[in-house]
Amino acid sequence: MEDREMHKATCSDCGAECEVPFKPTEGKPVRCQDCFRKNRPQRSSGGGGRRFGGNRGGFDRRPREMHKATCAECKQECEVPFKPSGDKPVYCKECYAKKQDSEDRENF
Ligand SMILES: [Zn+2]
Ligand SMILES: [Zn+2]
Repeated sequence: MEDREMHKATCSDCGAECEVPFKPTEGKPVRCQDCFRKNRPQRSSGGGGRRFGGNRGGFDRRPREMHKATCAECKQECEVPFKPSGDKPVYCKECYAKKQDSEDRENF
């Protein structure tokens, strides 16, 4: 624990004198704790999924929704991370890679 230096400031919301743990910058509104809390948008992350601090880094990885599709090339059933629109051919990973490959070459 380290002592935080407190700075006297005047809340730009309610005008009350308060102390903030940072140096008030001129031109920037300073809010007392009450107003700060009131102004903070409440995050309502749906679901009761509590994140435990096991992972450092904190990437919000959400699983991609996979959609069943049939590869237009090899007719294999595959899953794609986007919703097949119907008017565009869907390729499985392998065929997609092959396509990308040949297209790159064609462009050259
Ligand atoms: Zn205030
Ligand atoms: Zn395929």
